Amino acid sequence: MSLLKDKLETVQAAVAKAAEKSGRTAKDITLVAVTKGVEVARILEAKVLGLAKFGENRVQEAQEKIPQIPDVEWHMIGHLQTNKIKEALSLFSVIQSVDSLRLAREIDREAQVQGKTISMLLEVNISGEKQKFGFGTEDIYTSIDEIAKLPSVKVLGLMGMAPHSPDTQIRRIAFKKLKGIFSVCKSLKHSNVQMQVLSMGMSGDFETAIEEGANMVRIGRALFG
Ligand SMILES: *Cc1c(COP(=O)(O)O)cnc(C)c1O
Repeated sequence: MSLLKDKLETVQAAVAKAAEKSGRTAKDITLVAVTKGVEVARILEAKVLGLAKFGENRVQEAQEKIPQIPDVEWHMIGHLQTNKIKEALSLFSVIQSVDSLRLAREIDREAQVQGKTISMLLEVNISGEKQKFGFGTEDIYTSIDEIAKLPSVKVLGLMGMAPHSPDTQIRRIAFKKLKGIFSVCKSLKHSNVQMQVLSMGMSGDFETAIEEGANMVRIGRALFG
């Protein structure tokens, strides 16, 4: 049995356990395998094991790898520079890391040029750290009202990262906060805003995130580390 297979089974068991704690099942949780720094052969191995959604955080690295790994869904999870939007739109199915109104508008403009609609998550800064990317926990609501006016984007939900802290409780509070924002956003009725996906939780904290309502987790090290 491969090492990757072992790790995947461990992660899946932990996901199932956390899902049950929050009254759901493993089927309710989508796993995005984060492959930054992971070579193509290992990503292909993960695909053979049944993984179908993958995340990369840099356009340049993604450009080299994605064409070699067809028939899976790619998510952009890192900060996207405006000069890389064009490439990103041809590589990724979902941009999880839309972290400003300006970026959303630029993505919409390029999506119109390419004649497509692009799915996105809005990244909210729940870490309280000013240097982190993301919409503020206060201005996310007015920003959504603006993004809802953009014709070529479809907002599927929210993404967030807990602060770097060894204290689980601090992370839990951050996840709770994002779940609360998600619930409020869900009640806003905009035709191109769906609010189905709550992407939070990484290798170090995905169980806590799921317990607090995440339905998508982004896991790198626990699978490939
Ligand atoms: C790297 C990364 C992850 C995965 O982190 P791990 O700790 O390796 O699981 C998740 N989300 C984002 C935005 C990342 O950059």
